[in-house]
Amino acid sequence: MADEVEITQTCGVCHAELGSLSVKKENMMLTTSDRIWCSHCQAEQPEIRAVAGRRTAILIEEATLPRVDDS
Ligand SMILES: [Zn+2]
Repeated sequence: MADEVEITQTCGVCHAELGSLSVKKENMMLTTSDRIWCSHCQAEQPEIRAVAGRRTAILIEEATLPRVDDS
């Protein structure tokens, strides 16, 4: 069964697409605290994962970005 989804890995700072991976739906994790090496930023940046080819990726992206809170 092809019950896999393609996840794109994007730099959380410059939003360059850095790669992709296929994961089983049941193991899909869109929230991650992993950092990924971005060759554009020349630094390790927070990684944004999104389901490839879906508009809803933007919503997921917003949900996974850390909120800046001044409290
Ligand atoms: Zn970057």
